[in-house]
Amino acid sequence: MDLKKRIEKFKELEYEFNKDFYMQLKKEQKPHTLFIGCSDSRVDAENIFQATAGEIFQIRNIANIVPREEEPGTHPSVVSAIEYAVKILKVKNIIVCGHSNCGGCAAIRKLEEYKENLPYTGEWISQSISISNYIDYKYPDMSEDNKMIMLEKLNAVQQLDNLMTYDFVRQKFATEELNLQAYYYDIGTGSISVYDYNSVFSDMIKEITSSRKLFLDQDKKMLS
Ligand SMILES: [Zn+2]
Repeated sequence: MDLKKRIEKFKELEYEFNKDFYMQLKKEQKPHTLFIGCSDSRVDAENIFQATAGEIFQIRNIANIVPREEEPGTHPSVVSAIEYAVKILKVKNIIVCGHSNCGGCAAIRKLEEYKENLPYTGEWISQSISISNYIDYKYPDMSEDNKMIMLEKLNAVQQLDNLMTYDFVRQKFATEELNLQAYYYDIGTGSISVYDYNSVFSDMIKEITSSRKLFLDQDKKMLS
């Protein structure tokens, strides 16, 4: 795989054939959607939406996490991109996309190990530990495979609640200028499940959020 050859090919084929499009595109961007997806190389927003350049503003991080407003301001990168997308670009949709076989969600299940070996990753994904602990508490007999799928789905939907901790998101959602949805992308089947802010998972998310401090307790002593 030769990256240099690929960029030459982009210029010769893609750019030259669509020069007018790119000359127009250079003036401004008007994306309709903010896509918050996992960094996973298989989660490709343009491909999923069959979109072209300029349509989708993107944030990609391990396990598609949105820091909550009340958390200490240690992760401004994600929030600054959301702020820009909502306030300046005025996107109409925010899509949080979780996916099958997510390495980030698998890491949440082994948080202590990750904190030791990959401290930056450990700190980042610990933002979602309450969801993993909630699943253990609520479904102690569920198989690990099913717990993983549930974590991947709940983690995506939870981020809608995290988004709603910001005033500028809440206001635009209330006036229906902003549509919030979580996706679960099953890579092997190509199917995408869509969950609104008020979805089948709403009660669970409420429970996780209201008991967040409790579920953040990793040894779960308080839960027993
Ligand atoms: Zn992932």
